[in-house]
Amino acid sequence: MPEAAEVAVAVAQLDRLVSGRQLAGLTVSHPRTTRAQPADLLQQFVGRRVGGVRRHGKWIVVTFEGAEAELGIHLRMSGQLLISDPGEVPADRHVHAVLTLDREPAAVWFRDPRTFGEFRVLDAGAPVAPDLFDDGVTGARLAMHAVRRRVGVKAVLLDQLGAVSGIGSYMADEALHRSGISPLAPAGELAVSAWERTLMAARAVTLESAAVGGVTLPDEGWVDLHGVRGEYAADLRVHGRAACATCGAATRRATVGGRSARWCPRCQDARRRR
Ligand SMILES: [Zn+2]
Repeated sequence: MPEAAEVAVAVAQLDRLVSGRQLAGLTVSHPRTTRAQPADLLQQFVGRRVGGVRRHGKWIVVTFEGAEAELGIHLRMSGQLLISDPGEVPADRHVHAVLTLDREPAAVWFRDPRTFGEFRVLDAGAPVAPDLFDDGVTGARLAMHAVRRRVGVKAVLLDQLGAVSGIGSYMADEALHRSGISPLAPAGELAVSAWERTLMAARAVTLESAAVGGVTLPDEGWVDLHGVRGEYAADLRVHGRAACATCGAATRRATVGGRSARWCPRCQDARRRR
């Protein structure tokens, strides 16, 4: 599923395409896509000029000139934003929303086979914790949120409403591999230095992954706005791998906070806390 890196790719492309242009129409055809609010609330953006597009966690946030509220788009499991001319919008039953613009390329469509994705009017920014690149997100902040928590560190990294947003499963696995910490290490026992190192690693993974279009795993459908797959899967060290790409040891797998975690028992010392 798209994480900060993939969302960053979509945001950069969308920003280039739509900033300064007028939203001529916004059609949503699946009730689940606007499940958080009455669908017609989104019509307040129609006729307005796009100010810009930014990322906050895994949310795509579109701002409009003269509007306080922003348009939030969340791709969740399987959402894709794709561009085309209006005549090219496919008769695809998985296309659940279409944004039309005042000039070519005139349409951005939202395709979402599993319908977990969402369009929402945001009145106070994205409804999640600060983004992993925000200045206020530090090792100390992560450690503070983990005080007395016995869950594995990976669960704290993935909790979008907790200390930080934007980190998903592969980013957490890869960041913890780089920082040498096991995803099962009890969160409350981790030193600030280890949180800081893991956070810096998560930022580095985001930038490196976004630079090559993000990760498209075989069983997931991430593509950018032009339909191009990401290439970062080839650079993953442990996520989705039977053997560690750094040392060759067999990786281990477990469930942490209801989510799957993968790590290398040689590169990630189970006792390490700092
Ligand atoms: Zn290893």
